[in-house]
Amino acid sequence: MFKRILIANRGEIALRVIRAAKTLGIETVCVYSTADAGAPWIEHADQSVCIGPGPSPQSYLRIDRIIAAAEVTHADAIHPGYGFLSENAHFAEVCRDSGFEFIGPSPEAMALLGDKVSCKKMARKVGTPVFPGTEEAIEDIEEAVKVADEIGYPVIVKAAAGGGGRGMRVARDVDQLRTGIESARQEALAAFGNGSVYIEKFLEHARHFEVQTIGDKHGNAVHLYERDCSSQRRHQKLIEEAPSPGVDPVKRRQVCESAAELIRSAKYSGAATVEFLMDAKQNFYMLEVNTRVQVEHPVTEMITGIDIVREMICVSAGQPLSMKQEDIKVNGHAIECRINAEDPDRGFMPQAGLIETFVAPGGPGVRLDTHARPGYRIPPNYDSMIGKLIVHGPDRKTAIARLKVALDEFKIGPVRTTIPLHRRLMENADFANGTFDIHYVERLLKADETAKSEAAARSAKDTKA
Ligand code: ADP
Repeated sequence: MFKRILIANRGEIALRVIRAAKTLGIETVCVYSTADAGAPWIEHADQSVCIGPGPSPQSYLRIDRIIAAAEVTHADAIHPGYGFLSENAHFAEVCRDSGFEFIGPSPEAMALLGDKVSCKKMARKVGTPVFPGTEEAIEDIEEAVKVADEIGYPVIVKAAAGGGGRGMRVARDVDQLRTGIESARQEALAAFGNGSVYIEKFLEHARHFEVQTIGDKHGNAVHLYERDCSSQRRHQKLIEEAPSPGVDPVKRRQVCESAAELIRSAKYSGAATVEFLMDAKQNFYMLEVNTRVQVEHPVTEMITGIDIVREMICVSAGQPLSMKQEDIKVNGHAIECRINAEDPDRGFMPQAGLIETFVAPGGPGVRLDTHARPGYRIPPNYDSMIGKLIVHGPDRKTAIARLKVALDEFKIGPVRTTIPLHRRLMENADFANGTFDIHYVERLLKADETAKSEAAARSAKDTKA
């Protein structure tokens, strides 16, 4: 087993890795930027090293400085967390070449499943359901037009190296397809340095269904069932839950098993999430594979009782998976709300600054993964997520009831957060019934906007009269 792990990340996920490492008796090293000097999670680590100024290209994305920090602290492994360098195959390779175990897949497995075109090819081969579309990156526009005619419009043009919703264009006819391919290519080239794009069928109404998988270095891979992440705004997840409500148990098992098969065939070790869209008839289509631990992993931990981050560390150290597929049982229901320092009343503007009030919720089934506390100053440099509230219950209804109470107890100020939005979503009928799709949050926000401007127009009229 490792003696010391360096964490190439910050915030709640750094703290999450520290906690898992401690349960294994492993020491931890935090790297941090000057913007994070004195931040709460750092004091939980055994050692810490400043690696540069606030902007992440000068600190959390500096491979050379992270490797130097691992060398001076004699770490033997590096956990990348999520975001930053976590899906960078070059970083995984540099770690390996410098003699540090990268806690995640091999650079080869990461590259294979991280590229959407090669991943889809592999998925087709092993029987993981994918969208109909082009099999290779588009070389010739006329070829793409032919494929689009075959599968029928609308289609979506996507970047092979895509991420964060960039390099995507929906096309409803052939003209939009031609311009979409060009503009997606340019955007992908600028964003990822790789302009290759492909097309697939576009689903209008879908739910986001993702399968948590984990593999080891001995050829074993299991799935830990699924999460539903349909509550999104601008492709950013707000609420995640497990299991996905109302899914046919046979279809669910098939798709989960096919996800495990995909990572097994890729000789993948570590945690991976295979993301799917599900249509109204519960047909599944793979979107992509995330080759790292995800923000929403706790809901899966709550229903399976498995510590995913601890398991990642153990498989990375060469241990076989601690469980077999038949040992993994689903118990109850879990829901996670992402608490972002954003102002929902002002276009979700990110909020930086001092947290004065911080009252954490509690009670049965309540878990709070956060690095924030009273007196913590949120720096302006990073992602706005300051914590995750996760609630578990014997069933979905109880989990929602507990979550409502927890959201009412949870007080953060004067910094504005997404807590009030979560309270509203808990009252939403589509959410309550589990009859949502990936656009329901946007629809609700749009209805709010319309109601607001109508009210403003009415009051202007009344004033005039
Ligand atoms: P990224 O890696 O940029 O996040 P994804 O492939 O995961 O890209 O897609 C992001 C989002 O775009 C999905 O969650 C979904 O909302 C939408 N999307 C992507 N592909 C399709 C599709 N074929 N049909 C409908 N929506 C899609």
